[in-house]
Amino acid sequence: MAHALIIGGGIAGPVTAMALQRAGITATVHEAYPEGAVEEAGSFLALFANGLAALRTLGCLGPVEEASSAADTIESYSDTGVRLGRQALAGSWDEGLGVRTLPRAVLCRTLRAEAVRRGIPFRYGKRLTGTAVRPDGTITASFADGTHAEGDFLVGADGIHSRTRVLLDPAAPPPRHTGQFTVCGATRHTGHPAPPRTYRMHYGRRAFFGCTTTPGGVTYWFANIPGADLPRDVLAAVTADEWRRRVTEAFAEDAVPAAAIVAATGDEITGLNGYDIPTTRVWHDAHHVLAGDAAHATAPNAAQGASMAIEDGVVLARCLRDLPGPRQAFAAYERLRRERVEKVVAMSAAMARREPLGPGERRARDAEVARRMAGDPRRDTEWLTGYRVDWDAPVR
Ligand SMILES: Cc1cc2nc3c(=O)[nH]c(=O)nc-3n(C[C@H](O)[C@H](O)[C@H](O)COP(=O)(O)OP(=O)(O)OC[C@H]3O[C@@H](n4cnc5c(N)ncnc54)[C@H](O)[C@@H]3O)c2cc1C
Repeated sequence: MAHALIIGGGIAGPVTAMALQRAGITATVHEAYPEGAVEEAGSFLALFANGLAALRTLGCLGPVEEASSAADTIESYSDTGVRLGRQALAGSWDEGLGVRTLPRAVLCRTLRAEAVRRGIPFRYGKRLTGTAVRPDGTITASFADGTHAEGDFLVGADGIHSRTRVLLDPAAPPPRHTGQFTVCGATRHTGHPAPPRTYRMHYGRRAFFGCTTTPGGVTYWFANIPGADLPRDVLAAVTADEWRRRVTEAFAEDAVPAAAIVAATGDEITGLNGYDIPTTRVWHDAHHVLAGDAAHATAPNAAQGASMAIEDGVVLARCLRDLPGPRQAFAAYERLRRERVEKVVAMSAAMARREPLGPGERRARDAEVARRMAGDPRRDTEWLTGYRVDWDAPVR
């Protein structure tokens, strides 16, 4: 039986390991950080019907549903506080999947726990540094702690700053900065909760704010605000107070409840540089293949990165199940995935607006949002959230 080395225990890593197991391939997941490392406070994810359906294919939708809360409606507001529309959330009409919200760390923990329950081994504190291929095709991964692991092929699920991507293509350009920060937080103390099962979106003059409130009374919020690319150590040193100040300032001219919600949030605030990768030249060779953000990081604006990472794992396993060897399987996987994921990256990048809008542009934007929200949501999003991976269909 073939054995896969999976690098990265975020989202693509555990999902790919479970999908490979379903395809009859064993895997060990190697994660750079220690087990239980603390993740960004207040950081959360929305999973759409396409990602949820892919989890269902692997039989691990249940644990994710238990760990998350459901939304099925979206409301949009202008910078003047006028409601532009209310609509079923993309995918919520279909199979009862809706949209699920949960802290990013909880999603990782839930997927890891489910993979471990299925007997998949995880190795923590294993930061990939390099690989070597022996004449018999065995691949050896080297880790920063001086240890090694061997397998038949290696899946780089090591995120946006992927080491595997650079090993495959040393000239690969670094991720592109979108010109925005995404600041997110969680609070139980706001006087402005979103209505039940609803995402409330506010189009400001210079920035975008969204929030949802769980049945347990936690309001998760995010703000996409303009900002320059900060080096990692500078970013890590920005305090919750400083993020509160920046978000409040970004919506100072708008009738948006951002300032009140942010003021009611304690230390559970994280700000991140917005990055994406519009295209990755090399997705694989005969021994290595990329999955998730390592292959196609999308700006957070469209909230699709995790769902895309989950789809990747299931499609990659189908290819390895049906084709004679990794080389053919990786080529088929790229063929099945590249166009779709690059379309999502482009859509998300277009949502990351950098310049403030003038009064005429804001009126046009409001009219466009109102028009879209009065229409059938399927018309614009069926290609995205209506996508289903057919596990049983053979890959040729
Ligand atoms: C602010 C923000 C908000 C977002 N909101 C959403 C959302 O609402 N919905 C959505 O679908 N997506 C969202 N995303 C995107 C989503 O988080 C990513 O697309 C998703 O996490 C990708 O999963 P991944 O497994 O490919 O990468 P990651 O989740 O980044 O996991 C990569 C793993 O690899 C490990 N690793 C890295 N380097 C090495 C190495 N050298 N050796 C070993 N291990 C290594 C890392 O420690 C990490 O655990 C958001 C992203 C951001 C930044």
